[in-house]
Parts: sequence; C-alpha cells; structure tokens
Amino acid sequence: MEEQIKNLLDKSEEQQKVMTGMRPTGKMHLGHLVAVLKPYLELQELSVLEDKLTNPSFMIADIHSITTRNAKDDFRTAESRMLEFTKDLIASGVDPNKSTIYAQSTVPEHLEIGYLLSNLVSVGRLERNPTYKDWIQKLKSPTASLFLYPVLQAGDILSNDGTIIPVGQDQLPHLEISREIARKVNDIAGYELFRVPNGLEILNEVMLGTDGQKMGKSAGNTIDLGESDKSYQKKIRKMVTDPEKTEGNDYVGHPEICSVYTYQMFFSQDLMRIEEECREGSLLCGNCKKGLETIIAPYIKSFRDRRANLSDKMVYDVLKEGQKKTREIASKKLDGLKSMMGIKYHF
Ligand code: SF4
Repeated sequence: MEEQIKNLLDKSEEQQKVMTGMRPTGKMHLGHLVAVLKPYLELQELSVLEDKLTNPSFMIADIHSITTRNAKDDFRTAESRMLEFTKDLIASGVDPNKSTIYAQSTVPEHLEIGYLLSNLVSVGRLERNPTYKDWIQKLKSPTASLFLYPVLQAGDILSNDGTIIPVGQDQLPHLEISREIARKVNDIAGYELFRVPNGLEILNEVMLGTDGQKMGKSAGNTIDLGESDKSYQKKIRKMVTDPEKTEGNDYVGHPEICSVYTYQMFFSQDLMRIEEECREGSLLCGNCKKGLETIIAPYIKSFRDRRANLSDKMVYDVLKEGQKKTREIASKKLDGLKSMMGIKYHF
C-alpha cells in the first residue's frame, strides 16, 4: 500500500484526499479491523504527516445499506445501527480530529448528484457490472437502488472530491464507473468539474471465521471488537485449526489451512517461529491459541475503553461537524453539475 500511495502522490501536483465508506451493518469485528480499518488508520496518520494529503473522509453508508436491508424492522433499527456503528468506528481509532466522519444520508447533495449522473450512464453499462450480476444471482428480488448503486457511489465520491479510494478487488469495477463518469462530465463541462478518483487496492487479505469458513456476521463466526474477555477467549479456544494436525501424524501442522494462523498472520510479531514450530510439530494448537488471545487482548481492551467513554451526544456532534464540512464541498460540485446540465436557474 505504501508504494502505491507514494506513486499516486509523486505523480500529482495537487492535494489528494482519501475517502472511504462502510455500511453500518452491525458490530465491528476483527475482520473489519484488518480489512478496512487498519489500512484506513495508516492513511489517516499519513495525512497528518504528508502535505499532499488533506484530511480523509469516512462516510457511514447508511443509504447504501438500505439497498439490501429494506424490511420494516431494518428501517425501525436504522438510526440505532448507524449510531452504534459510528461509536465502533471512533473506538477503533477513526479520529474526528484527523478525519471527517459523516453519515451519507445527511448530505443530500450526494443523492442529487448521483441521480443527475445516472443520466450519463447506460443501462447496458450497469448491467455489465460484475457485482450486480452476482447480486441478481443471490437475491430473490433485487431493487432498482441496487442496480444504481455504482452511480450513487460515484455521486458520493465525486461530490466529496475523493481522489484516493481504498478498495477491495471486487469494488474496482464500481470505481471504474466513477472514473468513467468523472471523465465524461469533465469532457462535457470543458473543465475539471470532478477529479478522476484512483483506487488504492488494499483489501486482499483473507481472515477466516472462527469455524474455518468464510467470515461473516450472519455465519456467527466473528470475534467482535467489543466482546468480553470471557466471550472472545472461549471463541478462540473453540477455533477450528488444521484438520490434518492429529496425533497420528506426529502433530505436524499446515498453517496454510488453519484459521488460527490467518489471525496470527495479522496480529503476531513472531509469525516465522509459529509457522516453523507448527510445521515441525513442536507447537501445540492450545498454546498457539493462548498466544493469539494474548496478542488480541490489547486491541479489544483499547476498543472497549474508548467506546465506553462515547456518549450519543458526542457522536452526533461529530456527525454534525462532518455533515457541515462535506456539504460545503458537495454543494459547490452540485452547482457546477447543474450549471453544466443547464438546470441551474438564477432567480
Ligand atoms: S499450531 Fe497454530 S497454526 Fe499450527 S495448526 Fe495449530 S493452531 Fe494452527
């Protein structure tokens, strides 16, 4: 990631802005920490040191979450989910003094720009989006909003001047749509109304669930950042390890097929020793798990401590400030887009 960002900054004369977003889907877990938060926190710190980086933006994608969570109960619990999620975010280290944190729904310009931009994208282009193809296979009745998701995402990014977007490989096709739209608008406008965003590919690491399967909230195989000591220790002790590591083959282990090892990869400073001892059979799984408990403990403790000190009011103040800053940028972009489309009236 460092190399990629250095290249992006070296190539540009202008200041760059990191922007990312997450759907407020539930409690933050170790998988989120590794896949999204850890890289973001590094970028957040880099933006303090690096003149070419402005403060990054973290958007809580509450509207995107409605594209798939749209049952009556989902709407009823949406606000508390957003609030709790924002607390998790701040407790994880996303710092309101270094990052702009805001909820997507509080910046109506995102939606307005997204809608206007949908006039510049063909249905065929959106149908070719691989994520959409995947969704329609999985969902019984995909919504129109799901179809337009990449365009709304373009609205979020372009209206907030996001130029460096940390993304997983699966999100790259969406970002490509944002890039195409930005170029098209700039071409029609005759000037750079929207900056063309670049993807920063960072989310390729895979941490397995505690049962050795793909990690997911609904699968119940995550370790939440706010879990009690007793609860996460119990989960670690029950974690599935290398199924081939038995007494019969002299305890020889295969870390590459062990879920515990996928956690060690991200948290341990002593990975080579663990791998070596696992392979030669001198490390017992029980001891390996105890070691994992010890290294995870400080992350969970600091998360819990920080979160305990966050009141609803503090979080709403952060969101209000984030909304104000983002709307200032987005309203100028909206004016520019409306002018370009001939619908900015002067009465
Ligand atoms: S020793 Fe550790 S890495 Fe090796 S199989 Fe057991 S739990 Fe997995």
